[in-house]
Amino acid sequence: MQRSDVQQVADDVFRVDGGIVNWYLLRDGRDLTLVDAGYPGNAADVEASIRLLGHQPGDVRALLITHAHADHIGAAVPLHAGHGTPAYCSPAEVAHARREHLQQVTPVQVLANAWRPGVLPWALHAVRLGGTRPVAVPHALPFPAAGPQPFPSAGALDLPGQPLPVPTPGHTDGHSAFLVPGAGAVLTGDGLVTGHPTSRRTGPQLLPGFFSHDRTATAAALQPLAELDADLVLPGHGEPWRGPVADAVATARG
Ligand SMILES: [Zn+2]
Repeated sequence: MQRSDVQQVADDVFRVDGGIVNWYLLRDGRDLTLVDAGYPGNAADVEASIRLLGHQPGDVRALLITHAHADHIGAAVPLHAGHGTPAYCSPAEVAHARREHLQQVTPVQVLANAWRPGVLPWALHAVRLGGTRPVAVPHALPFPAAGPQPFPSAGALDLPGQPLPVPTPGHTDGHSAFLVPGAGAVLTGDGLVTGHPTSRRTGPQLLPGFFSHDRTATAAALQPLAELDADLVLPGHGEPWRGPVADAVATARG
């Protein structure tokens, strides 16, 4: 992890390039919100990215999880053990995060897709980063309601960046995007990406179908993204994309 891997993409919004997955830091003075947490093998990188910004891991008020796949929760337990960092996700994702069940492509399913371009190199990279190690977030909790209404109508979270969870189920049952209203940015997790080692294209797109728990719902979850007032798309995989999110969705729909 070096300083060039930590990129300011908007006021107080930072993208960290973890190699084959991104995570994000939202800043409010000395306080940070971390959105997603890399592979288990990225745990030290997550802490390094926080320090490269001139912060300490203890400045992270919360980890927000778009979805509980192994490449988005790797640093959750180390951060909680070392710094007491809470981890929040959609109520529909909590049991998945705690690994009461698993909604992730299996090694056998990956092998069945190994003929596709890029899948085998990606899988080897993912294994090196701990993608097949058991990983869970036993301390995962549902988003803390800022007001009297429960998710999904609770509004913005009382955390740095004031992120607003946007339910986008499909990739996993409890997948959530986050709108950062002050930055006009939307963190789309794996609901809408702009590249992946298993894709030959860059630009707004859906991940290959075998990565999604429910392909039909994943496609339908593009609609709530299209309706957001944002002109910066910050995906879980791929580069930032600038332009109206509705245009990004139109491109992904093809
Ligand atoms: Zn995923």
